Parts: sequence; structure tokens; C-alpha cells
Amino acid sequence: MPEDHIHRWRDYEREGYEPVYMPRAFTCGWCGLAVSSSVGLFRDQEWIELEGPFPVPHNQRADVRICPKCGAATTFLNRDDQLPGPVKGDNLDARKRTEGAQLIVALYDEARRAISQFAPSCAVLMFRKILMHVAVEQGAGPKLSFVEYVRYLKDNGVVGKPQHALLDRIRDAGNTENHAIRRATLEDADDLLALVTLLIRSVYFST
Ligand SMILES: [Zn+2]
Repeated sequence: MPEDHIHRWRDYEREGYEPVYMPRAFTCGWCGLAVSSSVGLFRDQEWIELEGPFPVPHNQRADVRICPKCGAATTFLNRDDQLPGPVKGDNLDARKRTEGAQLIVALYDEARRAISQFAPSCAVLMFRKILMHVAVEQGAGPKLSFVEYVRYLKDNGVVGKPQHALLDRIRDAGNTENHAIRRATLEDADDLLALVTLLIRSVYFST
């Protein structure tokens, strides 16, 4: 092995990393596809302590995997904490759709990424914005409150009966005072993701 390769390998050894030896199935934190990857680096809990002024915590198990579809890396700490988290929702291809549909899908994808980066409040704000936009396109008045938009989707059959419990949860979670600000939970974001996915599919992808 050439000298510089040996040096490089020592860096890996010092940090406790070695090539992975088993495939791992996961939903990619970048492209959102369900993949299985055998390429990456693995560090067990016990590894040689790093010398120097900035010792890295050495009790953390890490498993870094390269996505075979998009080439980006997803890290698993302590067995199953996935960073970034799985990109949830649907990969919607809007390339052959209207400009309006393309914009909505681009915003939808941003919000999905925000969830996978553990920023549910950002995702919720964007999903609510999309929901209101779609409601207006479906004939709701332009200056309603968020709760009124949700009611409009329900009363006018834009969203079918099976999803009414979901709509009620979203309405209650969004029923805050005007200008009140609070952090959203991952569950709030997941509810809106489910509803907005449905809305986009039925309004922009039904034909
Ligand atoms: Zn990927």
C-alpha cells in the first residue's frame, strides 16, 4: 500500500471507522427513495480515543451510508437515529404539469425536506400556505382564516369523508390566536403532509 494511503487509513482508524460489511435498507434523507446501501463507513461504540485539543465523543455508534440513487450520505447514530430523517410524502413529478402545479410541488418538496431536517414548524407554515392557496383555487374566498379554509375544504367536498378526522386534527392544531406563534410538533407536520399530499394529487394530478 502506498505511504499516503497508509496515513489516510490511520485517520479512519483513529476515528474508529471501517467500511460497512452489511447492506442497510432505509428511506434516503435526501431523495426520499427506499434504498438499500452496502457502501459506507461504520464505527462501533468502542473505538480508540482521539488525541488532541478537541476530543470527539467516542461512545457514539455511527453508520454512514451512501444512497445508491442520489449519492448523498445519510448517517445513523446510536443504531437508529437517522440524520437527515427520511423524506416522507410522495415524489411528485410536475415537469409536464402547469407552471402553477410546478410551483406548488416545489414548495411541497421544500416542506418535506424541512421535516427530514427536524424543522416541523417551517414545514407546517409552508403546508398551511399551500392548503390556503389550493382552497382559494378551489373557490374559497381570498380572505378567510386558516380554520375557515379547512372548513371550506370539508364542507365543499374538496377533501372526502375518510379524511375528515385528519382535517379536524389540523383545524384544532391551527386554531391559535391571530399572530400567536408556537412550535409545531412532528405529528402536526405529518398530519399536514398527509392532507397536502392528498390535495395536490386530487387538484393537480387527477388528469
Ligand atoms: Zn437518495
